[in-house]
Amino acid sequence: MRRDLLQLFYLFSAILFVMGLRGLSHPRTARRGMVLAELGMLLAIIGSLLHHDIIDYRWIAAGLALGTAIGVPMAIWIPMTAVPQRTALSHSFGALAASLIGISEYYRHGAALGSVRVGVIGIEVMLGSLTFTGSLMAAGKLQGMIRGYPITYRGQNFFNLSILVALLNSYAGLTDAAMGFMLDNKIQIITGSLDGSSGFILSVLMCRAMNRSMTNVLFGAFGKVQDKPAGELEGKKPVRQVSMEEAAELLGTARSVVFVPGYGMAVSQAQHRVREVADVLKGKGVQVRYGIHAVAGRMPGHMNVLLAEANVPYEELYDMDQINSQFPETDVVVVVGANDVVNPAAKRMRGSPIYGMPILEVEKARVVIVCKRSLAAGFAGIDNELYYGDKTLMLFGDAKDTMIKLTAALKE
Ligand code: NAP
Repeated sequence: MRRDLLQLFYLFSAILFVMGLRGLSHPRTARRGMVLAELGMLLAIIGSLLHHDIIDYRWIAAGLALGTAIGVPMAIWIPMTAVPQRTALSHSFGALAASLIGISEYYRHGAALGSVRVGVIGIEVMLGSLTFTGSLMAAGKLQGMIRGYPITYRGQNFFNLSILVALLNSYAGLTDAAMGFMLDNKIQIITGSLDGSSGFILSVLMCRAMNRSMTNVLFGAFGKVQDKPAGELEGKKPVRQVSMEEAAELLGTARSVVFVPGYGMAVSQAQHRVREVADVLKGKGVQVRYGIHAVAGRMPGHMNVLLAEANVPYEELYDMDQINSQFPETDVVVVVGANDVVNPAAKRMRGSPIYGMPILEVEKARVVIVCKRSLAAGFAGIDNELYYGDKTLMLFGDAKDTMIKLTAALKE
């Protein structure tokens, strides 16, 4: 009876996970998808608590209390800008747990498990450890604790090659699936496979957005710092600056404005202030849209999440393919803390680490206003020739601060 109930819980939970993933495939249904997936997880946890192998709930209760004590403050207090590194950190905890379970299973049963199961444990522990250390490195990079450009070393490609076969489609999902096989737990096999395959599909989509092959991502050294420091592009004239009043004048008299957000908007948490500028412009009859690059920011969907949080209507968001053809007809583009995703070097400069990545072609608009603090490089570590263009005006300063001042200047 208990066993049947457990299987029923797992079945409903698996259905809810699939429906949740389906919902997450579109911003309009993402919130519902998230709720369904959470419900699926709740059923999976309740079902697991009915497992006949459990003879004592004390350790489980202690783990639950400890996880809640750490997880709730993380969810409440970690700012939106730190969500990518927080996600990487959570990812690493999951992988560590999977590795430890594998080790403990081997410790408990040893060779009595048989060669197949020991092999699966080996895969689980290896993938789990790779995911744990890889996610920690990612969190450190995103937090700025580890330098942002790739760490390369002699024999790196050989090392990568030696782990390629295990690595390609794996990540945490496969670790979970391996653990499911080992513990004969069907829901873990299902969730692990869903996680592994959707993670892989996401990687393929990200590679496509960057116009890079999987092999290039695995073996390339993306973001290698160029020889010349940013702001010193050879043969370029000095940048042109614009005052707040001039920027407000340009925007207030435009017919169409496109905001292009990037990582800097996330850093300064300027999304609400950007929407306020947009609201004032719309009040003046200006057509306002947002151009979203798939890899803007530091995590997939980063800009969509921030703009949704600021209640920007979904209809105003245009992805790169939709907006690029509109730029020649656009009066003013306001680049808010974006850099690599608007860098024309991606189209022209062979040898540039971003060469071949499709970009938002903002340089085709009549005027481009770039809001950032300096001429400093972005993630790829390279200079941006957009800043030196004839139609480009630099509005230096923190994005949030600039947007507040811009709203005030527009209202004057
Ligand atoms: P970016 O190229 O990293 O540039 C961000 C710019 O924001 C910087 O040049 C910085 O210039 C500016 N900035 C920082 N703080 C600011 C503030 N408080 N106010 C105003 N500006 C500020 O960003 P991006 O154009 O969004 O491109 C994303 C990059 O990250 C791409 O290379 C992408 O491949 C990579 N990436 C993306 C993901 C993903 O999943 N989305 C994951 C990993 C890596 P200043 O210092 O001069 O202000």
